[in-house]
Amino acid sequence: MNKKCYLCDGTEHIQRPGKVRDNPNLDIFECVNCGLVTLSETAIPQNFYELSGMHGDNPLDIDEWLRQLERDDLRRVEYLSDIITNTCVLDFGCGPGGFILKARSKTKQVAGVELESRLADHYSDNNLNVVQNINDLPENQKFDLITAFHVVEHLEQPATILKELSSKLNPHGKIIIEIPSANDVLLTLYNSKSFSEFTYWSCHLFLFNAANLKLLAKKAGLKLDFVDHVQRYPLSNHLHWLSKGAPGGHQKWSVLDSDDLSKAYEARLASLGLTDTLIASFSI
Ligand SMILES: [Zn+2]
Repeated sequence: MNKKCYLCDGTEHIQRPGKVRDNPNLDIFECVNCGLVTLSETAIPQNFYELSGMHGDNPLDIDEWLRQLERDDLRRVEYLSDIITNTCVLDFGCGPGGFILKARSKTKQVAGVELESRLADHYSDNNLNVVQNINDLPENQKFDLITAFHVVEHLEQPATILKELSSKLNPHGKIIIEIPSANDVLLTLYNSKSFSEFTYWSCHLFLFNAANLKLLAKKAGLKLDFVDHVQRYPLSNHLHWLSKGAPGGHQKWSVLDSDDLSKAYEARLASLGLTDTLIASFSI
């Protein structure tokens, strides 16, 4: 690959094994210097997100979408419970609004930004203040917390967008992002071939690791407060990948999981930096 690394300007990359599940023409590269994972090219059509591209040709089933996200939305509200209480919160890339719907009873005010245009009626039915672009928010409206759950990896210019979001923060405000980790144990230690041919997606333009998020913060002119390692999928899911080479183990083999086991597994993976998910906090 002859493009420079987005984060560190490095020019040396190694090709990662695996396939981009929806586009066989793309290759997966990892920067030798900082570990940023990127695709050989960006192949997202114009207005892709506005026109529900992520849902393909399927009709938009908002209730089903909310159901799929419910576990994550509840985890996020609990994780951020202290920060959202009595504050003004903006969720950037809010999708069907599951997080802000669940958070709003604790907050002073919630709002969202979402490109997807077919959700407009859903927002007004639920009395949610959601705009399509950051610039559609009133100029003087500021937030104590701006969240972006599984959004930053979709952006062509993530640092530019983080910088733009930071202009909507109160002086002590924070931006908290959740992203898939480039160092997921299934890819880096277990070397699951099936997973490496399933997880990469043309919409995920970048996969970050805990160390290179400092570079992202610097590029956006922000401070990195902390990075937390979170495991979304339990041990049953990983055993199923390794045994059957297929997703869904957390449903099919859920009998293997318990809260204690999931917590212990997450803690071990976190201590090794090998969880599937990272949460990072940025401030001005
Ligand atoms: Zn790099």
